[in-house]
Amino acid sequence: MNSMETTKHSIGVDLGGTDIKAGWVSSVGDVSCRVVVSTDVETGGPKVVASRIAEAVRQVLVKAETEDIWATPRSDSEEPPPNRVDASETHDEVREIGVGLGSPGLIIAETGVVHFSPNFPGWSDIPLVTYVNAELAKLQPLKKYKPILRGMDNDVNAMTLGELHHGAGVGYNNLVALTLGTGVGGGVVIEGEVYHGSQNTAGELGHTVVEPDGRYCGCGNQGCLEAYAGAKNIVERIQEKIAAGRSTTLAAATNAGTPLTPQMIAEAAQAGDELAIEIFAETGRYIGIALTSIAHILNPQIAIIGGGIAEAGEKLLFEPIRAEFSKRAMDIPAQMKIVKAHLGNDAGIVGAAMLALEGFFK
Ligand SMILES: [Zn+2]
Repeated sequence: MNSMETTKHSIGVDLGGTDIKAGWVSSVGDVSCRVVVSTDVETGGPKVVASRIAEAVRQVLVKAETEDIWATPRSDSEEPPPNRVDASETHDEVREIGVGLGSPGLIIAETGVVHFSPNFPGWSDIPLVTYVNAELAKLQPLKKYKPILRGMDNDVNAMTLGELHHGAGVGYNNLVALTLGTGVGGGVVIEGEVYHGSQNTAGELGHTVVEPDGRYCGCGNQGCLEAYAGAKNIVERIQEKIAAGRSTTLAAATNAGTPLTPQMIAEAAQAGDELAIEIFAETGRYIGIALTSIAHILNPQIAIIGGGIAEAGEKLLFEPIRAEFSKRAMDIPAQMKIVKAHLGNDAGIVGAAMLALEGFFK
């Protein structure tokens, strides 16, 4: 009963190009002991980043020890840690705690390798898990915990897993997730498992083509969903219309040289600005077109849409998505629900923590 592996607590680490976010995640998906450290990717290579990941984990564990997290289960449904009763007697006993890592880029989940990542220029087939575990081993002795990195995957796959276990996907086992941020990420769950494809590249839903001769995408292709629904692209699309003479309340800001953001566009739309409303309606339409193909290929029960752009909400974004989707999809795949993600800013940490429990490379 003393093995940590029987519990469902873990530490989730969300690796980004600028920051590393980490936190303690309970068996019911609650996050506590959050920390943020800088990634320091400029100052060093992957081993420096690995040491920063270990530092984030160390800070989470220091907080966990200070807050005596085992003594205060965060929910009634949470099982007590197996050796909690013995904690006072066996103070020297060090407990293992699993760590999971979500990283941007093409990740080989089985081996814990970063094949390539746009956020980490020059990285090629980096055995990041090995590096991180070497750095975690250097942290010893922590007073109570022995952290071990047990799982790594692409960050969007991790978020998808988080939504599956603790978010909008609870109760479903076939789903897709879209994250609308700087880029448009995707994840696919088939029969309860994240689908990786034959070479770990499955789930690139943002590169579904929605306009054959359309806007150029960062991937080199034309007309990808990302080229319409990514944050930068939404801004570019409205700027083009402003430049073409369309009137909007946002013109004052652009004329003053203030860079537009999707949030500003959403606020203008909520205040009734016609062009801003049109931009979101168009964005929703493209997402609906992409989801039609996705539903026809995979027949998922639910599509979960998260990321900053999804904050535009029901009226501006989700209604146009559903309208386009129901217009195009065949009757049975059209039963797919389209909902907003539940985990918000915690999605990355919760999802990464789930990777520790899945134990991809145990
Ligand atoms: Zn693309």
